[in-house]
Amino acid sequence: MTAQRIRPADLVVHGGRVQTFDAVGTVVDGLAVRDGRIAAVEDVTGHIGPDTEVLDLAGRTVLPGINDAHLHATWLGARWPHPLLGAPHEETPVVTAEDRRAAILRAGDVCAALGITSYTEPGLGPGETGCFSAEVLDEYAALHREGRLRARVTVLRLFGLLDGASSLAGFTRGLATPVPDADPEWLAVPGVKIFADGIPPMRTAWTHHCYADGTHGALLVDGPGDDERAAALAAMISSAHDAGLVVGVHATGERSIEAALEHLRAGDHIVHGDLVTPAQLRRMASRRVGLTTQPVIATAMRPMVATALGDDVAAKAWPLRDILDAGIQLTLSSDAPVVTPDWRVHLAAAGELLGARGGTPELTARLLRCYTTEAAAQDGSAGWKGSLEPGKVADFCVLDDDPLGVALGDLPSVAVELTVTGGRIVHKG
Ligand SMILES: [Zn+2]
Repeated sequence: MTAQRIRPADLVVHGGRVQTFDAVGTVVDGLAVRDGRIAAVEDVTGHIGPDTEVLDLAGRTVLPGINDAHLHATWLGARWPHPLLGAPHEETPVVTAEDRRAAILRAGDVCAALGITSYTEPGLGPGETGCFSAEVLDEYAALHREGRLRARVTVLRLFGLLDGASSLAGFTRGLATPVPDADPEWLAVPGVKIFADGIPPMRTAWTHHCYADGTHGALLVDGPGDDERAAALAAMISSAHDAGLVVGVHATGERSIEAALEHLRAGDHIVHGDLVTPAQLRRMASRRVGLTTQPVIATAMRPMVATALGDDVAAKAWPLRDILDAGIQLTLSSDAPVVTPDWRVHLAAAGELLGARGGTPELTARLLRCYTTEAAAQDGSAGWKGSLEPGKVADFCVLDDDPLGVALGDLPSVAVELTVTGGRIVHKG
């Protein structure tokens, strides 16, 4: 095809460093965008026509759009700017459709300003209320129809209480409820979230270790004893699989991880994994079960785990080095608003967990993949998002410095100057 026959691009950015995060980590000078997708990453100026918007990067860096694999966006919008772990704050109640809409749109602003172009909203469903209700999913669908979503949204449905109980009967009833129609590139509902247990500081993680009061936690799913609860969890997972859904299981204690792992399959993931063991990581790798974990939660909660379960257990919790070495599909995520949604702060915390505050370009690239290509893989969308390659969606952010050239601990001072989702500028700093 000759240059004259190419339909001009809608947007061309050039004159910078584009970290494509393709399979070999190619760096190019610019990108051409047409119809919301990447048209070219080479000779991009040849795609400039009279109506093309052209942006000179002036040496700045482009990254694939950040994909936060575990972000309670509606709750974040309702609480913003106050995280849960922090000074006490009265939460704005989310009751009406207007409230839901306002919270989602506010989260959209927050995400766009941070370079976040995709996120997973982990847990919306008929058993919950407020920021986690099934009506929130309906509001997402309405905003999608109106073209007002600024980030792509993956929803895991929840058929029980967030951080609480669920029953097999309720789960089965929930599975039968309908999902709103939407373009899955913008609003996808590929699976379900199940709460296997709570968290160590609340003494609700299910573990072989002993809390100070002599207890060990338990599975949250209904049942008279451990065996019945484990059987109910297994039945929930297999009925989700039978319905063609992926499963994300909130599991922090190594016993609940074990109980879930037994039944999870490729495409599923564990959420948090605080007390995951090396043997479990090996099994996750061989079964292609992923993990999403939150570095800021790890650094903030480690002292609380020490109080609940002792220093030895706390020292071995969140073994990020082992997790990286295990070769599992790993996503880093925020769990905002529990803590900040700022991925730069989470990457700095990951550096702390690894004892590598300085980091190396290779390590930073690896960690950024946990927020881009790996997150797309968790979404089942690695074929069309996550990296900047021709044919994939044009989701990216422009930073004032190349994060691969900055110490991990200094990443929070790298500014997000521009965010583009589906070829549309959704934030300009
Ligand atoms: Zn969460």
